[in-house]
Amino acid sequence: MTAAPFHLVIIGNGIAGISCALTLRRLRPEARITIVSGESLHHYARTALMYVYMGHLRLADIKPYEDWFWRENQLDLVHTTATALHPAGQRVSLSNGLTLSYDALLLATGSESRFHDWPGQHLAGVQGFYNLSDLEALSRDIHGIRRGVVVGGGLIGIELAEMLHSRGIEPLLLVRDAHYWSSSLPPEEAALVDYQIKQNQIPVRYHTELREILGDAQGRVRAVRTTAGEEIACQWVGLATGVRPNLTLARTAPALETDQGILVDEYLKTTLPHVYAAGDCAQHRLPAAGEVPIEQLWYTGRMQGETVAHTIAGQPAPYRRGIWFNSAKFFNLEYQTYGRAPVAPTDGLSSFYWQHPMRQVALRIYFETSDSQAVTGFNALGLRLRHAVCEQWIRQRTPLTTVLARLAEANFDPEFFPRHEAAIVRAFNQQFPQQAIAIRPKRRLFF
Ligand SMILES: Cc1cc2nc3c(=O)[nH]c(=O)nc-3n(C[C@H](O)[C@H](O)[C@H](O)COP(=O)(O)OP(=O)(O)OC[C@H]3O[C@@H](n4cnc5c(N)ncnc54)[C@H](O)[C@@H]3O)c2cc1C
Repeated sequence: MTAAPFHLVIIGNGIAGISCALTLRRLRPEARITIVSGESLHHYARTALMYVYMGHLRLADIKPYEDWFWRENQLDLVHTTATALHPAGQRVSLSNGLTLSYDALLLATGSESRFHDWPGQHLAGVQGFYNLSDLEALSRDIHGIRRGVVVGGGLIGIELAEMLHSRGIEPLLLVRDAHYWSSSLPPEEAALVDYQIKQNQIPVRYHTELREILGDAQGRVRAVRTTAGEEIACQWVGLATGVRPNLTLARTAPALETDQGILVDEYLKTTLPHVYAAGDCAQHRLPAAGEVPIEQLWYTGRMQGETVAHTIAGQPAPYRRGIWFNSAKFFNLEYQTYGRAPVAPTDGLSSFYWQHPMRQVALRIYFETSDSQAVTGFNALGLRLRHAVCEQWIRQRTPLTTVLARLAEANFDPEFFPRHEAAIVRAFNQQFPQQAIAIRPKRRLFF
């Protein structure tokens, strides 16, 4: 009798779960791999949900793999919800009544929208924005309305505002702080985002939070009341106050240690034998210096999924994220950040900031205040930098003056640096006269 093949069960078909499945298929061609997901049969790019809503893409366009791909690669898809873990028997119960036995189990259950128990949050027309059912609810509930209130000054909030705006519905934003996304952006960059919002004629109430949501006789939202005491009439409310790890399944196994997320070691192992966690739902027990314990990004989900597959395949590999990277778009304003780029001044770190006097273009370069003046990070708004070049400068601890002198190497937009390089260096020379560097003659452009 031949032994049954090694069986990996993955709960969640987001980027973390799928990256693990594809990597394990490569490392262990004979393994049986089952992917369980309650949201959709096929994996799709969550980051592109807003473009589906705005009609730029169809749902089929945001599936990175054709539907035949899964069968071809012997990846078994099960469209149902996993309801309970039974670690002693190495089994998982599913809502379709079946039970799956595993040799290894990956929990890749992602995040869920975080609400704050506001009165009225269960009224019809109130929602978060995370998954396909949120997309469906949005399409259904904002049809024909005049105004929607978006609560939260972060990346999902601005996406919701843009989605409503694209349909001619007035989005009104409630932002707790003095600027948009000031938890992540220094005041100068945040002010540029504020300006972008203003240019799109989106009303914002800064320093304002949601107090309660008011309903009509049919149980539908009719207004919100803010902490400033204002009552704002609206027909829809988007709660974009962050996400938290989805622990519903994890909580069915008391021996599985959780905190904000499922606690994992550097190999993404949980406290249960043969059980791993990766992606948004995982919380690193001992994150490396300067790293966050819970990473809620697309590329970190992919890296974690790929890394844990090696350990599951018997080639233990610790998770090392490397240099931080994030990007976003605030209406037409593109944003990128690399490396250590704190919001507020930090011991041992300073920054050089340049902003175009007329246009929404800005660059901030962070560097150590020690003699090395090693560059630690970048913020770019309205211009695009080359990822690999920035990473290399950060990794090699390149001095600030060297980076400034070679800035054109990070140039993604061919027309940008010839036009602005001299102005950037001039601004640096004004801010740091004791380290002034030579301004290169303007290069001619040939198109
Ligand atoms: C609107 C939006 C825009 C975003 N934009 C960006 C961006 O521009 N850049 C970026 O880096 N990140 C972005 N993110 C974040 C990024 O999408 C997430 O970090 C990433 O998708 C997380 O991947 P994951 O595999 O960990 O989990 P998820 O993608 O959340 O997948 C987990 C899956 O598991 C399923 N599941 C959970 N529990 C069970 C269960 N018990 N049984 C069966 N299935 C279950 C869930 O339904 C879900 O489908 C965005 C997120 C949102 C919501």
